[in-house]
Amino acid sequence: MARIAQKSRIVQKFGGTSVGDIGRIKRVVSHVKNAVDAGHEVAVVVSAMAGVTDDLVATVGQAADEWDSSEYDSVVSCGEQICSGLFALALQQAGVPARSWLAWQVPVRTDGVHGKARIQSIETDILAESMAQGQVAVVAGFQGLGPTGRVTTLGRGGSDTTAVALATALDADRCEIFTDVDGVYTADPRIVAKARKLDKITYEEMLEMASLGAKVLQTRAVELAMKYHVPVHVLSSFRGPPGTLLIDEDDFVEQHVVSGIAYSRDEAQITLVSVLDKPGIAAAVFGPLAEANVNVDMIVQNVSEDGANTDLTFTVGKADVDRAVGVLRTLRDALHFRDVVPDSNVVKISVIGVGMRSHAGVANRMFQTLADKSINIKVIATSEIKISVLIAEEYCELALRALHTAYGLDSA
Ligand code: ADP
Ligand code: ASP
Ligand code: MG
Repeated sequence: MARIAQKSRIVQKFGGTSVGDIGRIKRVVSHVKNAVDAGHEVAVVVSAMAGVTDDLVATVGQAADEWDSSEYDSVVSCGEQICSGLFALALQQAGVPARSWLAWQVPVRTDGVHGKARIQSIETDILAESMAQGQVAVVAGFQGLGPTGRVTTLGRGGSDTTAVALATALDADRCEIFTDVDGVYTADPRIVAKARKLDKITYEEMLEMASLGAKVLQTRAVELAMKYHVPVHVLSSFRGPPGTLLIDEDDFVEQHVVSGIAYSRDEAQITLVSVLDKPGIAAAVFGPLAEANVNVDMIVQNVSEDGANTDLTFTVGKADVDRAVGVLRTLRDALHFRDVVPDSNVVKISVIGVGMRSHAGVANRMFQTLADKSINIKVIATSEIKISVLIAEEYCELALRALHTAYGLDSA
């Protein structure tokens, strides 16, 4: 829709901890009030109050062993409904005209992939009209309206994506993500005490950080921000600016070789022991896994000692391990492997930086640092701007801290 209003528009998103109880909601509405008082039109996106979505997910698990994913969405999307209403009430209480919007009321249209739906369009006409009349729009994040009229959800952490998509649809001047840390750090500040806050990070690095485990922003939100050049600002709900700004690589002046370190406990390792070493084996293993909707990430094939058999190790999402092992067992006769061994006690550690494109020796520093701590690397994967290794989960914190120091990222 064409912009009629002269005012600048801002989308402000508040995460679960920021709206964790009524006291916090009452506190954080001041950010919205300040923006309104400064003359902006404001759309707010809220998450469920901290812990609510986890509880709803657990409750679904108690109701059924295997669930209908559309009913799952119907249940787990409720936390945002409650929070949007409470947030609108708190704004009204603070003297700021506001109303809540559920995804179907906007509507935020998605595809029909329940549990991890993708936003296809957001119709902003009615919403923008209401904003132009001076009402803050408080939109329930994480929810969507699927093609058959049912409620969908965008995957855990999906309110970030609602916020960036709404900023794009509203042609907003910026999208502010208010959270419980005061920006994006060189590593998760809850684990690495010496982590440093970054004033700026490139979209591309943030995309890698998010997809490799740094949950401060949902990956899809960063993808959208990068595609549509949405200025995203990650800020603390409680401590105020300056936060971290997502920027294009061309605008980056002070380049570091490594900008950040991420970890993910979401993957599990599977080893096929003594599988036939002949052409077509990889296709015979990974084809059926893909058909069963199992995403495979890292892969390593050991050198064959006898020329006939080898071990094949790869990682899949922890939630998919049982399904993957089930599929592999059905292939046993065809592939003649001796055993299939799953291991969920692993963590993937990744170092990320656009500077890697022009610097050598980055990977070696990672391997040497881990070797000095006697940490065994199980699998390695690299791309242009990241190196990931899979190690035993018990070494997660030790490895993160050692690498943080080795790459010169520690705060003074
Ligand atoms: P919200 O509820 O506001 O969406 P999340 O819990 O989803 O917040 O994301 C914020 C959390 O992300 C932080 O509390 C922090 O522990 C974690 N995190 C992981 N990696 C990083 C990082 N590199 N920088 C900042 N926070 C990070
Ligand atoms: N409440 C949802 C979750 O916990 C969405 C979000 O917080 O972004 O995953
Ligand atoms: Mg989040």
